[in-house]
Amino acid sequence: MSLKTAFRETFSGFKSLLTGMRITAREAAKPSITVQYPHETLKMPERFRGHVKLILDPVTGKSRCTACNLCVRACPSDCIVVDGAKKDGEKKKSVTEYVLDFTTCSLCGSCVEACPSDAIEYSKDYNVVGLHREDFSHMDLVKKLEGESKVWAATHPEAAAAAAAAAPVAPPPPKPAAAQPAPVVPAPVSTAAAPAATAPTVPTPSVTTAGAQPQVPEPKTT
Ligand code: SF4
Ligand code: SF4
Repeated sequence: MSLKTAFRETFSGFKSLLTGMRITAREAAKPSITVQYPHETLKMPERFRGHVKLILDPVTGKSRCTACNLCVRACPSDCIVVDGAKKDGEKKKSVTEYVLDFTTCSLCGSCVEACPSDAIEYSKDYNVVGLHREDFSHMDLVKKLEGESKVWAATHPEAAAAAAAAAPVAPPPPKPAAAQPAPVVPAPVSTAAAPAATAPTVPTPSVTTAGAQPQVPEPKTT
């Protein structure tokens, strides 16, 4: 190796070292991006697809799902079970059961697209963990929403009060029918209690004298 070549390689190595040290110094000056999991969580991007969840309506604090079952029919994996009931004072059904089998869900999005009420979306929950398969084969989304609703009511007291005031009021139960006067039943006439004056009079046979013969009318002669 000539002296010239050795000098060039030394210079190249020194230059490479300075470049590396410059990059290291620049990155060291930046704020840390390490997330201290599980004490910190990431904010997932808008397009992230977690499991399907019921949306909490910020006006009512409840779900907008009307249990129409369109998402059930749209699901190619048959992994949604929905039930609902119409409550007193409401025009549409409210969801009472929404169970997702996340073990067979492919996150295809058909259910979200089929929903006419904009009642479901993908959650941003990337932190779903469990010890048993059943934890994911029977995800109760109504129960999850009730938990969210409690937090919402606690953090938005004014909106929760307005929602409670605007909630449909169940009609009062029908009043019992007014008491009707008892029909007057004529008391049965007791013959025993009948006045003696109205008692049928039995003609007393005329007393005949002893030995007297009854009078037989004589036949008329024509
Ligand atoms: S994302 Fe697809 S597979 Fe999953 S529940 Fe919805 S329709 Fe079914
Ligand atoms: S989530 Fe939407 S499509 Fe599914 S039952 Fe409720 S309203 Fe209907």
